[in-house]
Amino acid sequence: MADVIIAGGGPTGLMLACELRLAGVDVLVLEKLARRTGESRAGGLHARSVELLDQRGIVDRFLAEGSAQPLAHFAFMHLDIDDFPTRHPYAVAIHQSRIEQLLEDRALELGVQLRRPAEVIGLEQDETGIEVEVAVDGGTERLRADYLVGCDGGRSKVRKLAGVGFPGTPATLTALLGDVELTDPPSEIVFGQEGRRDNGFYMNFQSEYPGLRRIITVEFGKVTDRDAPVTVETLSEACVEIVGTDWGMHSPRRLDRFSDACRLVDSFRQGRVLLAGDAAHVHFPSSGQGLNLGLQDAVNLGWKLAAVVKGEAPDELLDTYHSERHLHTTHMLNNIRAQTALWPAGSEADALRRVFEDLIEFEHGNRYLGGVISQLDTHYPVGDGHPALGRRMTDLDIKSPNGRVSVYELLHGARPLLLDFSGRPDVRAAADGWTDRVDLVEAEPQDDRWAFPVIGDVPAPAAVLIRPDGHVAWATPTAAAAGSEAEGLTDALTRWFGPARARREQDAA
Ligand SMILES: Cc1cc2nc3c(=O)[nH]c(=O)nc-3n(C[C@H](O)[C@H](O)[C@H](O)COP(=O)(O)OP(=O)(O)OC[C@H]3O[C@@H](n4cnc5c(N)ncnc54)[C@H](O)[C@@H]3O)c2cc1C
Repeated sequence: MADVIIAGGGPTGLMLACELRLAGVDVLVLEKLARRTGESRAGGLHARSVELLDQRGIVDRFLAEGSAQPLAHFAFMHLDIDDFPTRHPYAVAIHQSRIEQLLEDRALELGVQLRRPAEVIGLEQDETGIEVEVAVDGGTERLRADYLVGCDGGRSKVRKLAGVGFPGTPATLTALLGDVELTDPPSEIVFGQEGRRDNGFYMNFQSEYPGLRRIITVEFGKVTDRDAPVTVETLSEACVEIVGTDWGMHSPRRLDRFSDACRLVDSFRQGRVLLAGDAAHVHFPSSGQGLNLGLQDAVNLGWKLAAVVKGEAPDELLDTYHSERHLHTTHMLNNIRAQTALWPAGSEADALRRVFEDLIEFEHGNRYLGGVISQLDTHYPVGDGHPALGRRMTDLDIKSPNGRVSVYELLHGARPLLLDFSGRPDVRAAADGWTDRVDLVEAEPQDDRWAFPVIGDVPAPAAVLIRPDGHVAWATPTAAAAGSEAEGLTDALTRWFGPARARREQDAA
């Protein structure tokens, strides 16, 4: 029996499996497909995802295969994030198939069990665990775990079996994707505003398959059956309608259909069932957010689920997974839908687009949208006080007794981190009951101010508590906070990482 079963070995499921294993939890990933398709939908990682991989010490694997690109855009209006305060002020262009392979390699290194083909087809939860029915080669099996996480994509079986609502807005357009050969290919790549027409939108760029082009068409106002098969003729007709030619397309290697249906689960959690990635939210791929949202879901959930499974934190900690990610995703989906409204050419959308272009010229407009699109501005409502609360921690270089180290290096093991720049005994004393779970690092104070994307510079605190997902859980209001430096620290430690050791031992006795 595994502690946690994950349905779906896509990017979200694999990232979550890695997070759980880092925390010492037994994980079984069940994947419906016998082998990877090798096909990619996503083509890149935004800056915050690159940071997440850096926080776990595996970013070099992705940087070695991808290329840093200025890919942050809002409805293809370029956003400048090069001077954002991060080590990675760029997106990394890398095919989804490679992202999945690199995450799978990492998961196997960490000892994740991966079973395929194995399709989750039923579930039943009770007070002590969850029973999962799985279709395997020619039969079915029943497996038991403490929790099941559905990372099984937009049409999630787990979501449906758990009866979780998936409200949102229906499709208003039809989008087709094909990796095809072209007899008479256009000399120019079209990957941006040049593809806008009044009745649709198209893109034409290099496919991941050598010698093929990826053609994407979007027909506004046309809603088709999402299960209807896509043929090269369907794609060709859409191309002729929008562009006036199909460049002699033939010999498709892959054909697909997607839409702007935009939905978000009404709860990321139903008892012992949790949902993450596309299983929890679907939307049009404007500005390439889906896979990146899934990675952030995984990193937000991983340490919380691990702490609950290990009995360190109460089950209610999992409710914060819902409250934090639901709030953030609602905001992101709104942004994505606003982008879709800006696609049609020759309508009021053109006028609105010009307004946005002007706004982006202002530093604040660029910073705000750049923060959302790069996902560097992801923040959670953890409480009031220091302006960094709930935001992702900046990757400072710090000087500790063990030498120079970066904050993200200290997060490689996915453990909570208390950075104390004050050297005052009350901080150490407050953290005493959590030394089994929280790494305390005493560092020399460096800068008076810390730089954050979007909110800008903030006063450096005297001490900061960082969750394993890299978000700030607690900080003193300033470097020279009046009274006790450790005020509120024990509450924050208890809230996020469970009761102090003595209390836990007492409760267990
Ligand atoms: C055209 C297009 C372009 C895109 N471009 C981008 C982009 O540039 N950037 C970006 O961030 N996102 C992009 N996306 C979105 C991105 O591809 C998805 O958000 C991402 O794949 C979601 O990952 P996931 O792991 O949650 O789900 P999936 O990738 O859908 O993985 C789910 C896995 O679960 C398995 N599964 C399904 N049912 C079961 C079951 N019952 N039991 C066991 N296993 C099961 C599936 O076989 C699959 O392997 C794009 C999407 C499209 C359509």
